[in-house]
Amino acid sequence: MQDVIIIGGSFAGLTAAMQLGRARRRVSVLDTGLNRNRYAEAAHNILGADGTPPGELLARARAQVAAYPTVALISARAVSVSGAPDRFIVTSATGEQLEGRRLILSYGIVDEMPAIPGFAECWGRTVIHCPFCHGYEVAGQSWGLLYSGPFSLHMPALYRNWTDDLTLILDGHAIPDDERQKLKARGVRIENARLVSIDHENGMLRRVTLDDGKSLAMGALYAHPRSHPAADLHSQLGLDMKQTPTGTMIAVNEMQATSRPGIFAAGDLATAMHSVTFANSMGSLAAMGALQSMMV
Ligand SMILES: Cc1cc2nc3c(=O)[nH]c(=O)nc-3n(C[C@H](O)[C@H](O)[C@H](O)COP(=O)(O)OP(=O)(O)OC[C@H]3O[C@@H](n4cnc5c(N)ncnc54)[C@H](O)[C@@H]3O)c2cc1C
Repeated sequence: MQDVIIIGGSFAGLTAAMQLGRARRRVSVLDTGLNRNRYAEAAHNILGADGTPPGELLARARAQVAAYPTVALISARAVSVSGAPDRFIVTSATGEQLEGRRLILSYGIVDEMPAIPGFAECWGRTVIHCPFCHGYEVAGQSWGLLYSGPFSLHMPALYRNWTDDLTLILDGHAIPDDERQKLKARGVRIENARLVSIDHENGMLRRVTLDDGKSLAMGALYAHPRSHPAADLHSQLGLDMKQTPTGTMIAVNEMQATSRPGIFAAGDLATAMHSVTFANSMGSLAAMGALQSMMV
């Protein structure tokens, strides 16, 4: 019997594992090695590790976590989960069964690439979701913003920190006139047409083409595709969920506890604020929550 089974061993899961390992708890971490930022050459805005390739960062973290004798890192996909506090049962794709007193779900989310030629090829390099992560490197260049919903209209004010040269591509969506006027007053160019393709060289964006025939040169396109949790274990457990602007997340309290006792969630799966630092922080809170719940 493990004290805690962690499903998803990336930034959130490994942080939780380290904290629990240092508390000398028995922990198993199941992971399939598909961290969400694996498309980026370097991870940024991470204290002490700015500019490090994500794979290198995680390899270092795994080696550090694996040094704790009570922590087992298992390369496997969790496919089913059942049970209750003090006896959760997790089954992996290879049929192995693990039992644990508590669960931490940290299996992340998957971005759904739109069927726009060039989009997936540029994702994480010049088609970007977060200016804090990858804005500094393309600051001052011509940027595009692909409209994904009303929340997109808040982005231009933020992006002014990096560039004054911004085109909002509405992609066929209508926006209220007053919003349009506000954006224009900020100097944002607005294109109504749909984005049909992205021209690039090895992921380096050169131009985008719209369905009205226009072709716009730009150095970066900001986009917020829809996403979904990387597994369905939260559904199997019947956990409460919350909507985010681009998908769903597991609802948690301030200690990352879910709607069911003994089950905690951390990282991108449990917030709309997606970054390595947030994932680390939530992993640490989830570990603390799980530990406290066993200290009775
Ligand atoms: C292109 C891109 C670039 C980014 N760049 C940055 C950046 O520079 N700086 C920054 O702070 N943030 C960046 N982010 C955000 C960052 O990647 C996420 O916030 C962070 O990875 C979240 O960590 P996590 O541990 O919650 O999930 P993830 O890192 O996505 O890890 C989830 C893990 O769970 C595993 N898993 C999934 N299903 C199962 C299962 N059923 N069983 C076992 N394991 C499973 C996956 O394989 C994966 O290893 C970027 C995101 C993207 C998309």
